[in-house]
Amino acid sequence: MNNRLLTIGLEIHCKLKSENKMFCQCKNQQNFDILIPNTNVCPVCTGQPGALPTLSNEALRKALLVGKALNCTINKTSRFDRKSYFYPDLPMGYQITQLYKPTNTKGSVSFFLNNYTEEKTVEILDAHLECDTAKMIHDGGQALLDFNRAGTPLIEIVTWPDFRSADEVTEYLKELQRIVRYNEISDADLEKWQMRVDVNISIRKSESDPLGTRVELKNMNSFSAIKRAIEHEYHRQKDLYESGENFTQQTRGRDDANTSSYLMRSKEDALDYRYFPEPDLPPLVLDDNTLNKINNTSLEIPYEFIKKAKDEYGFHKEYINGLIGDKETLDYFISIENIDPKIKAKWICGPIAAWCKENFTSIHELKFSKEQSIKFLQIAQEGKILENQLKIIMDEMINTGKDSEDIIKEKWFDAPWLDANELESIAKAVLEENPTIVEQYKWGKTTTLWFFVGQVMKKTWGKVNPKTAWDMIEKLLSK
Ligand code: ZN
Ligand code: MN
Repeated sequence: MNNRLLTIGLEIHCKLKSENKMFCQCKNQQNFDILIPNTNVCPVCTGQPGALPTLSNEALRKALLVGKALNCTINKTSRFDRKSYFYPDLPMGYQITQLYKPTNTKGSVSFFLNNYTEEKTVEILDAHLECDTAKMIHDGGQALLDFNRAGTPLIEIVTWPDFRSADEVTEYLKELQRIVRYNEISDADLEKWQMRVDVNISIRKSESDPLGTRVELKNMNSFSAIKRAIEHEYHRQKDLYESGENFTQQTRGRDDANTSSYLMRSKEDALDYRYFPEPDLPPLVLDDNTLNKINNTSLEIPYEFIKKAKDEYGFHKEYINGLIGDKETLDYFISIENIDPKIKAKWICGPIAAWCKENFTSIHELKFSKEQSIKFLQIAQEGKILENQLKIIMDEMINTGKDSEDIIKEKWFDAPWLDANELESIAKAVLEENPTIVEQYKWGKTTTLWFFVGQVMKKTWGKVNPKTAWDMIEKLLSK
């Protein structure tokens, strides 16, 4: 059995964050599950005759930021189109979208694969603005409609068929999700359908062959479900080809629970959307001021951070995962300057992240302030306090919110240094008193050094810097 090449293109709908819906003054709410249905509606978003749309500047700005983040050409002139079809969730009988002249065209997105060991760039065909439909709720044989969602702004991001595996798709989607989240463009929560993914899949024998017949998969709302669906569809198509069967272009719904898919519509009954320019809206012409503002907005691009973390900071995948998973943590990390990145990552991805995870909370809920955190990191960077003491200090900070300096004082971690000669004679005495442990050390049990440090601390009532004691004992033992 010959393996076949998988070719995938994606269409992703992302809910844009803005105060108002796309073309009216209704609020652009996102939590449809807890809102009373049909309370956030007006003549525009329910398609009353004569009601006219006016484009929300904020939704537009978010869409332009998407264009910038995806390295698109942001077109000075673009246009809205009508996509007509009949369905109960579409009050106007058409959707306002952008087909012929979208605002953002020809972009690219780079992302990492295989634990940041490889990278890939995919081309973006366009990122266009459109309105969401109403929400249809099927309830005991009835179909209910909630128009709160009707007219809320979406950006649809269309890629070229550049993906060759399910892993590439998932890593790209994760990067896209981070891009829109980091820059407050969208919450992009798949479970809440704030990010919806349509996957176009075809297979062929080699790159030089034309694309095979494409099947579009819909209805998936988790990364793992998307991955499973792609793998399943690959095998389904491969089996069809191998048994000599032909199939036509079709749209299939995914039933993840039954690990299968079902035919929604084939090319023969594909809808004719009768696209034409939206007569109720003028062409969208961006003025220089708007374009300059977008150009001058600095965006946080996760791919760029990961690249830096890998190449410049030499971070391993755990540190990168620990930082990019959550924007608040990443911002916290970035905002602390003049500290060795490895020292920052060690404490932020270590005990601090562990505490956040245990308490289901964010880094901003820590009992100590960022200033206290910086003070601690400076102390860690100075290298005068031993690693295990730093750990004790951090634990205490996490539990009590106390200042690192106060903890150091309380625990005598900063005890004044003894005169070098005094320290040497005390250390010598400790070694003489413990010949068997010295022997163990010489046989390679280097952890015994802790024991000697402990003894010296005891004899000096903590009036010695443990790091200095450590160095002294190490020196004596190496003689
Ligand atoms: Zn409205
Ligand atoms: Mn669409």
